[in-house]
Amino acid sequence: MREMKSYITKSLLEVGQNASGEAVTVTKYSIKGQDDKAKKVYIQASMHASEIQGNAVIINLLKHFHEEQPQGDVTIIPQCNPFGRDMLIGAGHQGRFDATNGDNWNRYYFKPEIDYKSFAKEHLKSAQAEYATALRNEISAQVTAALNNDFGLSRARRLNYTMQLEALQADIILDLHTDSLAIDYLYSPQYAKNSAEALGFEHVLLIENKCNGSLDEAGFYPWWSLQQAFTQLGRNEPVLVDSFTLELGSEELIEHKKAQIQSNRILNYLATQQVIAANKAYKEACAKHIGFYDEDSFQAVYAQSGGLYEWFVAAGDTFDKDQIIGRYLQMADAKECEISYPFAGLVISVHSKGALQRGSHLLNVIINKSQS
Ligand SMILES: [Zn+2]
Repeated sequence: MREMKSYITKSLLEVGQNASGEAVTVTKYSIKGQDDKAKKVYIQASMHASEIQGNAVIINLLKHFHEEQPQGDVTIIPQCNPFGRDMLIGAGHQGRFDATNGDNWNRYYFKPEIDYKSFAKEHLKSAQAEYATALRNEISAQVTAALNNDFGLSRARRLNYTMQLEALQADIILDLHTDSLAIDYLYSPQYAKNSAEALGFEHVLLIENKCNGSLDEAGFYPWWSLQQAFTQLGRNEPVLVDSFTLELGSEELIEHKKAQIQSNRILNYLATQQVIAANKAYKEACAKHIGFYDEDSFQAVYAQSGGLYEWFVAAGDTFDKDQIIGRYLQMADAKECEISYPFAGLVISVHSKGALQRGSHLLNVIINKSQS
C-alpha cells in the first residue's frame, strides 16, 4: 500500500525503552469506521514472536480496509512484540518466552479486581452503553495504575498491559497466534460458540470463564463475569465482548495462500458482526464442518522417556487408542521403542522431534472421548 486512505492512520506505540534510552515501538494501524455505533475491533499478531502467519493475514485485512471503509473502528498491531521479534538463537526465535527470564509473553495481561456482584447491583437499571462505559473505565483505570506503578513491571507485563489498553476499547478482540507444527484451530469462550462458527475454523476449543493472563481471557473475563452477575440478579444480558485466540498453523512460517483463506474467514466473522459488508467469497472460505471440543479434551503430551524421536503422524492426523504413532531410539542401550497412548485422538500439533529429554513437550492432541 503506497498511499493509505485518509481514514487509515499509522502511528508508533511505545512499548519499552532500549539500553540507550530510546523508545522501543510497534506500528499501529487505526482504521476509522463509518459508524460510531458499530462494533469496534482490535487485532494483534505475533505476541509469541515466532508465530508470524497472522501478519500475512493482516496484510490482506489492510488491503481489504483500504478498498472498503469498515463500519466500526478497527485497530491493528502487527508484530506486537519487538523484544521477541529480534531475539534469535541460531536460526530460530526464542519465541514464546522472554529469553532473559522465561516469561511466557502471553501470560501477563492484567486481571482487574472488580466485585462483579456489586457492580451488577449498582447497574441493574443502567442502559447497556452506560454500564459498558463504566466497566471499561474501571478496567482502564486499574491497568493504567498498574502501568504507572512501573517499578514492578517486567518487560512482558509492561508489553501486555500496554496492548491490553488498546484491546480494551474494542468489542471484538482477535489475538493471532500459531502453534508449533500445527493445524489451524480456535480458542473460543463457551458463550461465543455461535458467533465463533462464523470464523470458519474446523476445530474450536471452548473455554470456561477464567483469567490466567492470556489476552483472550483478559479480554472476555470481566464481561462474562458481569453478564453472569446480572443473570444472578435476574437481568438477562449478552456478553458484550467477543475475544478469541486464533491459531493459524505453524510457527516461523508465512504461507500466502493459506493467509487468503484465513483472512476471508475473519472477514466472514466481521460481516456477521456488521463491521463490514457480507461477501460470498468470505463464507466459502469457512469450514463446512466444525468440531467443538471442551477444555479437558485438550491434552499436552510430554516425553515419558528421553531419546531420539520420530513421528509417524503429522498435525491433522487422527490416531486410535494403542496405535503406534512414533518411535524413539535410546543409544545408551541400543534400544528402539514404540510410542502409543491409552487414548484415541487428533494431533493438533507436533511440538518437537529429534533429540529430546524426558519431560519434553511432544504433542498437543484433542482426545476423542468416545473412543478412549
Ligand atoms: Zn502463541
